[in-house]
Amino acid sequence: MAFEGLAERLQGTLKKIRGKGKVSEQDVKEMMREVRLALLEADVNFKVVKKFIADVKERAIGQEVLDSLTPGQQVIKVVNEELTKLMGGEQSKIAVAQKPPTVVMMVGLQGAGKTTTTGKLANHLRKKHNRNPLMVAADIYRPAAIKQLETLGKQLDMPVFSLGDQVSPVEIAKQALAKAKEEHHDYVLIDTAGRLHVDEELMGELDEIKEVTSPEEILLVVDAMTGQDAVNVAQSFNERLGISGVVLTKLDGDTRGGAAISVKSVTDTPIKFAGMGEKIDALEPFHPERMASRILGMGDVLTLIEKAQTNVDEERAKELERKMRTNDLTFDDFLEQLSQVRNMGPLDELLDMMPGAGKMKGLKNVQVDEKQIGHIEAIVKSMTKAERDDPSLLNASRRKRIAKGSGTSIQEVNRLIKQFHEMKKMMKQMSGMQKGKGKKKGGL
Ligand code: GDP
Repeated sequence: MAFEGLAERLQGTLKKIRGKGKVSEQDVKEMMREVRLALLEADVNFKVVKKFIADVKERAIGQEVLDSLTPGQQVIKVVNEELTKLMGGEQSKIAVAQKPPTVVMMVGLQGAGKTTTTGKLANHLRKKHNRNPLMVAADIYRPAAIKQLETLGKQLDMPVFSLGDQVSPVEIAKQALAKAKEEHHDYVLIDTAGRLHVDEELMGELDEIKEVTSPEEILLVVDAMTGQDAVNVAQSFNERLGISGVVLTKLDGDTRGGAAISVKSVTDTPIKFAGMGEKIDALEPFHPERMASRILGMGDVLTLIEKAQTNVDEERAKELERKMRTNDLTFDDFLEQLSQVRNMGPLDELLDMMPGAGKMKGLKNVQVDEKQIGHIEAIVKSMTKAERDDPSLLNASRRKRIAKGSGTSIQEVNRLIKQFHEMKKMMKQMSGMQKGKGKKKGGL
């Protein structure tokens, strides 16, 4: 995952100081030397590192921290707060125009993920904010870009405005805006052309689009994997065009994290969204404080809960909860739970959001991998309805048939049945403990 090296080093450094009852100035200084190296290795801009270290040192060496009852934890708190501040402090939300539509220009270099992000953002605005955006295909230079956006539009069942590649992007933008007004779209997302490098011709064109559409947002899409280059690109776009926010893509990859940490301080423009994968729903609003907690191994429970909430059907959750209490859980329910967890995204990404999970190497290794989940699905689907409802029917010959039918082995079938029974037992215990404590929401 992203930030792996940085997270590991910072967490290692902070661990040394965490439980200390007494922390000296020297301890803080030594710790900050290590933090400094870790940040530089993660490709964080050196000026940003210098200021960060100075700020943390000043606060951490302050008397109220060192004299407090838990100085180790106080120092970590300071690091967390300063890291959050560095990445922008508060979450910066997408603009809403006083008078709709809100125009958003998507800009960036080729391959950064602009077209994909345009689709993701349209999906996000509809799903999370109940909006009705119009996507505009104004990248007429990259041959496949128009088609790509149209395909995304079809996939999402959302409109894409396009005039082919023979009309100028400025004209396309102008006409799209008129159409959006006519059809009462509340957002217009313009996918503009990218180039391999920042060049004057491109900037001139973007400037003209800006002129005719007066956008509320100019979102620069940058590839987090390019590290300091991403920061330099952001700086050039900002100087020439003026950007209102950054979308950092490919944060799901093994980026060292430098871009995420430096963009805000260097360009003074906030990161508004993070791309976390190639799928259409892999876009998250960027929350500096949550990202800082993730890096420092404190987990990101809030994002996890939000993910669970969007993926869990309330009615089904209640039904499952009832079944858990009465111990009526079937294999069908088991499969459903599994698919809900799966819908939330890759398991290792979920693990990264759990506090302390990053440190539990063992946990990572025993995680259920996607292939294993596929096997579980195949096994359950090879059972008859009666067997799924009443697992006690599963005698040896039935197990053999299921193993054959699912292309797995008897051992795997046995293991799954055992796990299922264990899960039931655990749920019974949990619901026993919860009695009288009020109802708890189902799902993860
Ligand atoms: P554009 O030239 O800027 O429009 O770039 P595209 O939207 O065509 O994206 C370039 C490549 O990056 C495509 O293969 C996308 O699937 C991929 N991509 C975009 N965003 C993400 C992301 O957040 N994570 C990952 N892993 N891939 C991404």
